[in-house]
Amino acid sequence: MLTLFDTLSKSKKDINISSRPVRLYSCGPTVYDHAHIGNLRSFIFADTIARTLEYNGQEVDWVMNITDVDDKTIKKTIEEFGENATPNELKQLTTRHAKTFLADLEALNIDTKRIRFINVSDVIPQIQEFILGLLDKGYAYTADDGSVYFNIEKYQADFKDYGELVGAGFIEGKKVGARVAVDEYEKDNLSDFALWKARHTDDGQIFWTHDKLADGRPGWHIECSVINNIAFDGQPTDIHTGGIDLIFPHHTNEIAQSQPFYKPFSAHWTHSGHLLVDNKKMAKSAGSYLTLSNLQKKTALAGPTLRYLCLQNDMRNQQNFTDEAFEAARNGLQRLYGTYESASSDDKAEVLEKFSSSLNNDLNTAEAVAVMHASGLSKASMDTMDKVFGLGLGQTAAELPSEVAELAKSRQDARDSKDFAKSDELRTQIETLGYEVKDTNDGQKVTKK
Ligand SMILES: [Zn+2]
Repeated sequence: MLTLFDTLSKSKKDINISSRPVRLYSCGPTVYDHAHIGNLRSFIFADTIARTLEYNGQEVDWVMNITDVDDKTIKKTIEEFGENATPNELKQLTTRHAKTFLADLEALNIDTKRIRFINVSDVIPQIQEFILGLLDKGYAYTADDGSVYFNIEKYQADFKDYGELVGAGFIEGKKVGARVAVDEYEKDNLSDFALWKARHTDDGQIFWTHDKLADGRPGWHIECSVINNIAFDGQPTDIHTGGIDLIFPHHTNEIAQSQPFYKPFSAHWTHSGHLLVDNKKMAKSAGSYLTLSNLQKKTALAGPTLRYLCLQNDMRNQQNFTDEAFEAARNGLQRLYGTYESASSDDKAEVLEKFSSSLNNDLNTAEAVAVMHASGLSKASMDTMDKVFGLGLGQTAAELPSEVAELAKSRQDARDSKDFAKSDELRTQIETLGYEVKDTNDGQKVTKK
């Protein structure tokens, strides 16, 4: 059984669900730009949780929102299409970025077909109804411009737990009652936040109507409360994942918005740490914003390599990305591909036991990767482990150094033209470089000796 650290209770808890699929929710991407590799790491983290649960024999119902309506997507749409942009133009822009995001996930060997994606733009009526429900219960109020805000003071009086995801007593000594209209803000600016933002000139023609609400659009935080609620039929979520930067205000506000309807909102909260690039937070202005397509210029196997690099570390902790670390991961993965090719046929049950106990111990992937590197593993064991790691063993051909690849190509040409003397000579050259050539029905296979 998987034991995972829970951010809310600050303790390790078992994921002990067997009678039904585990309800797993991941805060998805805001589709206004390419995701950076730090964002992608949080999805590798969630995918590893899903795969570990399945390895344990549990079914998983994995849901992810696509944030296609928020401050950032609207701002980008106005920049690109001008102030007359409508929800149609917003859709054009976000569909384009969502496609890139899905392609990134696939390149990371995250099977997008097994995730239930829900676009915010497809659930606006449900968001409106949810907000009306909060107004009805007194946890929200309408401001002069028609925007609807969450009432933290009222919530705190009834539930006494606002901000506990950050830490116990988070709200103590903080002034409440001020309002904040933007989606993202710092802890010091703790304020009533917008659930529904009345139409504003900055939003162009992007707004939705409702007979009980002003023309406008939802705030960011309410989106996830509603999508969890819809996806899991009002039942508590079992595991909610996201990057550590989402703890406040996003996840804190998700809890507050949802608990007036049901508690707990999520039984388990798990967060992945930041990925720094050269010890700096990723920022476009600093030139440290790295996407998967940047890495794909270095290697066609950038997806599995990044995945491997993340698995080598505890993904709950902060990790530093450097070119050297990526190169080392690339070599490590190549070694693993090589080990797989020459794997023995004996099986070692205790190896799999060690593998699964590492994973189930709060997702200790670093230790589990070390188990996979152990010598003498069978292909069957490695296949089993790769069901969790998703590194593509056996499906992805190892990369050959360019020198070897060129010799291999010449040798194939020589064989095609039946010049066997030349083909044999090239085989010897390839072997001198430490590679082995086998001629199979599917053509020649070159692997590391
Ligand atoms: Zn979210």
